[in-house]
Amino acid sequence: MSHLFYQGRGRKPVLEQARGVYIWDKDGRRYLDGSSGAMVCNIGHSNPNVLAAMQRQMEKATFGYRLHFETEASETLAARLSALMPEGLSKVFFVSGGSEAVESAMKLARQHALATGQPERWKIFSRAPSYHGCTLGALAVTSYTPLTKPFEPMMQAMPKVPAPRAYLDGLDPADPETGRHYADMLDAAIEAEGPETVAAFIVEPVGGASTGALVPPAGYMERVREICTRHGVLLILDEVMTGAGRTGRFLGCEHWGTRPDIVVMSKGLGAGYAPLGAMIVDEKLVDPVLDAGGFAHGFTYAGNPLACAAGLGVLDELARQDLCTNAQTMGEALMARLHGLMQKHELIGDVRGKGLLTAFELMADRVTKAPLPAHLNAHQRLVDLAYERGLIVYSRRTRDGTEGDHILVCPPLILEPAHLDEIVEGLDASLTALA
Ligand code: PLP
Repeated sequence: MSHLFYQGRGRKPVLEQARGVYIWDKDGRRYLDGSSGAMVCNIGHSNPNVLAAMQRQMEKATFGYRLHFETEASETLAARLSALMPEGLSKVFFVSGGSEAVESAMKLARQHALATGQPERWKIFSRAPSYHGCTLGALAVTSYTPLTKPFEPMMQAMPKVPAPRAYLDGLDPADPETGRHYADMLDAAIEAEGPETVAAFIVEPVGGASTGALVPPAGYMERVREICTRHGVLLILDEVMTGAGRTGRFLGCEHWGTRPDIVVMSKGLGAGYAPLGAMIVDEKLVDPVLDAGGFAHGFTYAGNPLACAAGLGVLDELARQDLCTNAQTMGEALMARLHGLMQKHELIGDVRGKGLLTAFELMADRVTKAPLPAHLNAHQRLVDLAYERGLIVYSRRTRDGTEGDHILVCPPLILEPAHLDEIVEGLDASLTALA
């Protein structure tokens, strides 16, 4: 009997150890971690240099309350992160996870509006579908029915615009008109809502859990930036999943040269070594808030020196092993192999992604894009079949969260060609078993 109920009533094997891209359970079974946990373990498991950096910090201090002390680890990590950001994003606020980072960004946008004499600005636009976290604030900007519906009465619903799913709408993602079409929906929605009431727009540069590695169509990000600027709306980029090299650049937004006002990061920053997240803000936004009395927000574990030491170790490893480049190269190879699987397996209706944030969607008909009947639970069955074969992949419902099946294939960025073969063989066998 377990006292935990993460998995509902189901039980999972007990994890014994993890090294590189592999995890072993207590019975000695080996799994290839083809989803880096939940797109977390970007530099692979048990990296000795990160463990040594954490050990050194542990021997000094594992906790220093942020209102009592500065720590070298948090100061250094803040400086290192700001150096990796677009120009001007130099103010860092640490948290312990992605939802906390999103909450922080929503609140900072609101406090900035108040501090600059715009008290009517409080709405945070986001997309449908989207996933920005499971705390009530982050859920208010999330659009994913299974996770949001039970809590609707408890939330201040925020306005949404459609995610740019060109593949479902029969539009060409390479045509800049497509990007303009979706971005202009944001423009019209802000106009309808009253631009003076809108504080921010939050968006994932490449969609993650809810849309399955959705890459924006040409021109979309550029146009979104222009619309936000024109309406005085802050652009918050949720890089919780895309950050720390996952898409082949340190930040996903670098692919489009988008300059955000606020970036939020988590998953790959702590990379599974410690709970760590960060909000990185344009310095011009922070001063008015501090002048008006300070940011009315903060978490006990924020800036924890042990977590920050882990983050520093992760940044060192990303640079030392040039993992952004590897994510790009191996991502291209993985995408080519997924397209190969699509040719062989009728069930695959779409393949998409950037770097090592890749996904495929199972469909009843790839021409009409009709989803498989929800009761088949195809995405979960495929995940289970792969798991039985020692391969871990991550799946979710797509579309509105109640139909559509996508599988995310997001291995650690240390991926080598032999691992790639193993992933593709595991998927191939699992798809054959599913059909
Ligand atoms: N934002 C995005 C884009 C995410 O993918 C997630 C988690 O999957 C979150 C926020 C929430 O992060 P956490 O689960 O660490 O709270």
